[in-house]
Formats: sequence, C-alpha cells, structure tokens
Amino acid sequence: MTGRVELLAALRNGCSAGRPWDVAVVGGGATGLGCAVDAASRGYSTVLVEAHDFAKGTSSRATKLVHGGVRYLAQGNLSLVREALSERAVLLANAPHLVRPLRFVVPTYHWHQIPMLGAGLGFYDLLAGRHSLGRSRVLGRAATCEALPGVRRDGLRGGIAYWDAQFDDAGLAIALARTVEDLGALPLNYMVVEGLAKSSGRICGVEARDVETGERHAIPARCVINATGVWADGLRRMDLPGSRALIRPSQGVHLVVDADFLPGSDALLVPDTADGRVLFVIPWLGKLVIGTTDTPRDELPLEPRPLQAEIDFILDTAARYLARAPRREDVRSTFAGLRPLVGGDGSDTADLSREHLVEVSESGLVTITGGKWTTYRRMAIDAVDAAARAGNLPIRASASRRQRLHGAGRDDARSRLARAQAVPDEAGIRLAVESEYARSVEDVLARRYRTLFLDAARACAEAPRVARTMADVLGRDSAWVRAQVTEFEALAAGYRVVGDAPAGRQAADP
Ligand SMILES: Cc1cc2nc3c(=O)[nH]c(=O)nc-3n(C[C@H](O)[C@H](O)[C@H](O)COP(=O)(O)OP(=O)(O)OC[C@H]3O[C@@H](n4cnc5c(N)ncnc54)[C@H](O)[C@@H]3O)c2cc1C
Repeated sequence: MTGRVELLAALRNGCSAGRPWDVAVVGGGATGLGCAVDAASRGYSTVLVEAHDFAKGTSSRATKLVHGGVRYLAQGNLSLVREALSERAVLLANAPHLVRPLRFVVPTYHWHQIPMLGAGLGFYDLLAGRHSLGRSRVLGRAATCEALPGVRRDGLRGGIAYWDAQFDDAGLAIALARTVEDLGALPLNYMVVEGLAKSSGRICGVEARDVETGERHAIPARCVINATGVWADGLRRMDLPGSRALIRPSQGVHLVVDADFLPGSDALLVPDTADGRVLFVIPWLGKLVIGTTDTPRDELPLEPRPLQAEIDFILDTAARYLARAPRREDVRSTFAGLRPLVGGDGSDTADLSREHLVEVSESGLVTITGGKWTTYRRMAIDAVDAAARAGNLPIRASASRRQRLHGAGRDDARSRLARAQAVPDEAGIRLAVESEYARSVEDVLARRYRTLFLDAARACAEAPRVARTMADVLGRDSAWVRAQVTEFEALAAGYRVVGDAPAGRQAADP
C-alpha cells in the first residue's frame, strides 16, 4: 500500500512522462472500481479518479445483497437473474472475506401463497443451477416461527426459505480499490474531473482537480470511462453539451433498527408491498436493515434524504409482519441512495430495467451505467471491451473472473464483517488512514467502519476520538479536528429519524 503522497507522485510522474494512460476511469463506486480492476487485470495502464470517497455515492447505500433478485424473476427478466446468480458465485469465490450466504424466509398468511411462492423460488433454484447455495423449502408454521422468532404469528400459515448472499458494500469497494493498486494501477479519491481533453474531436484525457489541495492535473488517456452513476449525464454533457438525459434516478431508503425486532440469523422477505414490490428485513452487522423504497427523483444530491412518506411506508410494511413493530424512535439510522436507472420517462421507476447500458459517444467517451452491485464485474467487462475499441488498445480478454480481491484468503467473512460492525479503535483508525485511503472522519465512520449507517448517535459520540487519532496520523492541527467533528455532526443529523409516533403500534393484517 502506498499513501496518498506516493499515489499523487505517481500521478504527476505519469502525467509529465508524456505517455498517456491506456484507460482513465471516472467514478469510484462499484462500477468504476470494477472497470479499473478489469482494465488493470488485462494489463492496461489504468488510473481511476473519484470526486469524493470511494463508494460515497450509491455504492455504500445498497440493501447489501448479492442476489439474482426474486423481484426481477417475478418481472420475467430471466437473463438478468441468471447472470446475477452466476456473478453471485464469482463474488463468493473471489471475495469470501466480504460476502456470505444468507437464508431468507418469506412468511405466508394465506394458503394460496405457499404453492405460488414455492414454485417461483424453486425456479430461482433452477436458474442458479450449479451455483445454487441451497435448495428452497416450504416451511410449516412452527419452522417459520423458529426461523423468524420476531415474526407476527396470528394468521401465519407457514413460509418458504431460500438462499441468496449478503455483503458489506463499502467494504467491497475498498477491497476493489486495494485490488486496483495491487494490480499496479492508480486509484485516487478526492480527485474530481472538471473537464475532458480532446484532440481532433477525440477524447484524449481528463482535467482533474485535487479536492484537498486544489492542484490541477491534466491526465492524458487513450480512452476514458464514465462510471459516475447517477451523475453520468454531467460528464456526458462535458463531452457533448445539451445531450439528452440517459439516467432516471430512483431513490431507495433503508431504516436500521436493533436486531431484537427479528432475532435469529435468517432474513425476512415481504413478497408483496402495497406498491407491488418486495421489502427486506435483514440482519446486518448486529442490527436489522429494513428497506427499500423506489421513488423517482429529479435532483441529484450527494446526500439524498429520505422522504417522510418513505419512512412511514417502511415502518407500516414492517409492522404487518413483525410481532413487535419498530417505531420512529427505534430507528438508529436511516440512509438513502439513488439508483442510476436507465431510460423511461413515465413516473414509475420500479418497472425500469436493472440491466446496464454501455454508450460510446462520437468522441469516444464510454459511459457505463445502470446495473447493480451484484453484476459490477460483468458491467466492467462490457465497458472495458468498448473502451479498448474506442482507444485502439491491443485487444486482451478480461481476467477478472479469477481475480481474487484484496484480503481474500487472509480474513474470513466473519472477521471482516465483525470489524465493520465494531467501533473503530486506534489501530483500526490508523489502518483506515494508512492502508484504506480514509481522509476524513466521515470516511472512517461511514465506510471503513459502518457506525454511521448502524447508529447515527453512536457515530457522533465517536467522532471527536476518531478525529484526534486521524489528526495524529495525518499531521493535522486542532482546528482540523474541530472542523471535522462539526462537519460530521451536521452530516449525521441527516441519518437520524426523530421519534414522534405514539408508542405501542399494533401489527395490522398483512
Ligand atoms: C436503495 C438501493 C438499494 C440497492 N440494493 C442493491 C443490492 O442489494 N444489491 C445490488 O446488487 N445492488 C443494489 N443496488 C444497486 C447498486 O447499489 C448500484 O447499482 C451501484 O452501487 C451503482 O454504482 P455506481 O458505481 O454506478 O454509482 P456510484 O456508487 O454512485 O458511483 C459513482 C461515483 O462517481 C463519482 N463522481 C461523480 N461525478 C464525478 C466527477 N466529475 N469526477 C470524479 N468522480 C465523480 C461519485 O462521487 C460517485 O462516487 C441498490 C441501489 C439502491 C439505490
């Protein structure tokens, strides 16, 4: 691991050597990091620049499932489901320290649901084929109560159990960034792209600015990949002002509550929400994550905020399935993310495809968007194939299928996930700064550890200690510590839901 000083020196050396990088990737979420790993594993010289922190955007705000997607099965999108199930197997093999199988139980309150759901999930097994993590099974009432000790029991007929997988999204992003570096490429956070360089109408690099120092870098590259998620239209318009929007952002919200609302190790899937989707109640890092929603949004804030109606919807839906329903004051944290969905101009984003799209502009800008975390590697293959053609690079096949991610083999899933769930100690904070690119208190408490996502009040309490230790490692003064704490407290306020609902909500009939 090289620190930021060395990474910046390598960038300056590369820029002044007069030889362009083969590939410049803009955006350090799942998609961009996947592209950088793929390009570097093919032997292309690669640089990746991210405006904020790795996974600061959508990629730290997922439901944390590595899944085929039972909802997409219900929509009849079999090729997406099959591809995602195959990618699930690749991720389990290449990142066993960050991904783990997880059993889901769908509780049923109507007899007719059992054969219907049983058949659907049996088909899910079939699509998984040799990648199946375990057969789905019909459970009786007693077995369902045993699997989901917090489930609402009156009227419960039974359930269906099936297997998928779960991960720590921000943790996987950092492992990808470390893998990029292991492969000899340059991953740089806090480096924003503000312009594209062109020669004879063809893109030949990016103009970037170091967010910490203001230093500008002209980064020459034979091809540029735009992997900026919901912000992709911004970069497309740097290439071609006035281009038609490609992205339809859709907000998804999650609430985090204590695990005792659904003790046990299985997740609960609500198969039919009032808006015709599914809702998950998932054990994650010692808490429960409940979500999500699908709300079309026009604006693109870096910190999207849940709407009141989204919070109510999640609480109301959970109340129909849990014996003890979480109330607003039980919410430890709430986080929202924006899906970079492609196309469509109707009002309903829930029906938009989760498939990805690669667009190559006339000047050679390769935009990759859509898709999901689970399929980031497939997306990267398609984007780098297109970039190699656009940049006239020697054609080489992707080697990412067998690319173990940084840390695999040294750490099992339990210990890595346990670390993400813990409150950072001094050694952990040092490691985050020295080996995991953390630059701010938020980087440590939101993404190297998941404290902010698990318990916003707890994260605030930890902020001064984290700031002091970081200042020690980074050589910052007390003014920096104060500013960091103030900034973090303001951010964390947006992750809290103030409790004002009457106590003792009763479970309603599902
Ligand atoms: C609520 C929700 C739940 C989800 N759950 C799941 C799930 O359980 N499983 C699953 O597989 N998928 C899930 N997804 C989908 C998945 O999270 C996204 O598809 C994925 O994270 C998108 O990654 P991305 O890299 O394209 O975008 P982002 O993660 O947003 O990354 C784009 C990056 O580009 C950077 N950027 C923007 N402009 C510039 C610039 N000018 N210069 C430099 N950098 C720039 C941004 O800072 C950002 O970090 C979920 C999505 C949402 C919203």
